[in-house]
Amino acid sequence: MSCGQTVALGAYLLGSLDPSERSSFERHVHGCSHCRREMVRLAPLPGLLGQVQLADLELPFDDPVPDPDLWPLPPAPEPEPAPAPPKRRRLLLVGAAVLILLIIVSGLLVPRLIDNDRVDDDAAVTWQATDTGSGVAASADLVRKSWGTELWMTIENMPKGMRCKLIVHDRAGRTEIGGWWASDHSADERIPGSTSFPVDQIERLDLVVDMKVLVSVRP
Ligand SMILES: [Zn+2]
Repeated sequence: MSCGQTVALGAYLLGSLDPSERSSFERHVHGCSHCRREMVRLAPLPGLLGQVQLADLELPFDDPVPDPDLWPLPPAPEPEPAPAPPKRRRLLLVGAAVLILLIIVSGLLVPRLIDNDRVDDDAAVTWQATDTGSGVAASADLVRKSWGTELWMTIENMPKGMRCKLIVHDRAGRTEIGGWWASDHSADERIPGSTSFPVDQIERLDLVVDMKVLVSVRP
């Protein structure tokens, strides 16, 4: 099975959809198992892209062949869709280009990142914090993955209409962006994020709006 909306996934993961497109795509992913599967497969990549060196993209041709599970799914025959309006079409083309880049990078990087010991995969911990200044309360579930850490945030008392991002700090002082989203979500919504840092190397998660840290979540 394939889905015509999967092309928006690349733009979604890189935070380049505008807030209304973002929430409509999130609603779609909720009900689309194909897009959800692709999202889980590609979720670690925005964090990894921040670490990609040009040299990684110019590997010799004898690099190991990627796992067949990581190859793009073959397109299924589909009825010709109605032509999209120009703006939407341009967005989809950008999304498709980004998605292709993500798939190429995943083919290059993911096989080398998958470690042999997957026994503890999916072990989760929960960190919580409330900032007395901003009043914002955040809870983060951190799920250990072979590629790093999957993050699930729930946030209360966020000012509406903001664009917030999650900055992940590791113990060595490095940072990654764990996710971007619009704050017009309900208080009980679980917001997905990801980082290539392993759980035990994460020092804290900062929820940032307009360069200001609203709450820091620590172990
Ligand atoms: Zn879909």
